[in-house]
Amino acid sequence: MQKTKSALVMPGDFIGTSEEFLNGAGTYEEAGNIYAANIGIIDIDTKEMSASVIPRTDTPSVPKVGDVVIGRVSDLKSSVVLVDIARIKGHENRELATSDRGAIHISNIKNAYVKDLSHEFGFMDIVLGKVIDAKTLRLSTDGKDLGVIKAICSRCRTVLKREDDTLKCPECEHIETRKIAEGYGTGVI
Ligand SMILES: [Zn+2]
Repeated sequence: MQKTKSALVMPGDFIGTSEEFLNGAGTYEEAGNIYAANIGIIDIDTKEMSASVIPRTDTPSVPKVGDVVIGRVSDLKSSVVLVDIARIKGHENRELATSDRGAIHISNIKNAYVKDLSHEFGFMDIVLGKVIDAKTLRLSTDGKDLGVIKAICSRCRTVLKREDDTLKCPECEHIETRKIAEGYGTGVI
């Protein structure tokens, strides 16, 4: 049976017969049948009645140096914050090649001395970090646009509201501090 338009095909997949279609780019003809030569999406030109395979480009993303990633704080050690990376900014529609864990070292939090990183991050916070080492997935949050974009109250787990340079819990009124990103609470990443 003929494949429908926009179906993903693999090399060698049957697309149609040469009576139905001319074989276009990314296809080959063999014994009256047209097959896909590439991994891609079938595109039928109804005017020419030709079938092509458009290469698929949305391959899984691998974080590179300079990429900004979005993740959730999964652990806080004395000198390192661990972040489960969910997405690469600008590639939100792509899955990550692997589910990766990044690390923000205490010296890469901001351009100032940090004595206690629990004043800068909380468990389960959502953070934006820039990749500074792609192999070890070391991240930096040094920069106005980087840091925590959503934080939850350490007492009652309610999402904290920004009040100038601190965060306040609308439920229990607990005040907390974070390395706040410019876009905190706006939902704009
Ligand atoms: Zn609270």
